[in-house]
Amino acid sequence: MRPSPLPQDTLLALLYHNVGSPPLGRGLAAHWIEPRLLRAQIRYLRDAGHTFVDADWLLGWSAHHPPDVVRPTLLTFDDGLANLYEQALPILREEQVAAVVFVVAGHIGGTSAWEPNPTHRHLPVLTWEQMREMQEQGVAFGSHTMTHPRLPNLPEEQWWWELAESKRLLEAGLERPVETLAYPYGHFHEKIARVAQDAGYRAAFSTIPGLNVPTTDRFALRRMNVRRWSPLPLFRRKLARMTRLPREG
Ligand SMILES: [Zn+2]
Repeated sequence: MRPSPLPQDTLLALLYHNVGSPPLGRGLAAHWIEPRLLRAQIRYLRDAGHTFVDADWLLGWSAHHPPDVVRPTLLTFDDGLANLYEQALPILREEQVAAVVFVVAGHIGGTSAWEPNPTHRHLPVLTWEQMREMQEQGVAFGSHTMTHPRLPNLPEEQWWWELAESKRLLEAGLERPVETLAYPYGHFHEKIARVAQDAGYRAAFSTIPGLNVPTTDRFALRRMNVRRWSPLPLFRRKLARMTRLPREG
């Protein structure tokens, strides 16, 4: 096994969406990953010298506390579809890896009706029962807003509801603090980040590609988007590319 191309002290956050086979029809297949590939990537990272961390580790990470682990790596899953319970949870459990799932809080127990693509808008979203079971197995939940809007396109007065109400709803249902957020489509700007901070979040993930250092803006955290066709050689090349991107600013 070749060692990871990543430095030891940067945080790698990986962005996944769905685990399983995409529904037939065009579009968004890139947002699905086969279970065996997810497992292979987890095993590769571990063998290559990465340490999987959880959301609490991230919230405790600061410039004053250099990483106590080598190549901290966090798995994140956006949208919170039910395939995560069926297909991802068994792998996370077997591999003993933590993860954060960013769920669309206004659609819990419903369907992915926010999707404009007709082949993707009737997929089941996680139920509260599934989420509680996942939480017991080491999966943390963050907010992906109430309705999955492009926040910069919404009138400012709706930002608060999307951010604060989803947090409140998740905390009430999971009986745990919810302090992380992922902006839908990765779309945000400084004013939105400030509202998120006022709403009580302590970290928010973008889709800006790259690695994170302790001084990376906590409300613009970088992620590496893992797409459907990422066999290990390609996955490794993509990791190497992350090392050449800016880490803050
Ligand atoms: Zn999303």
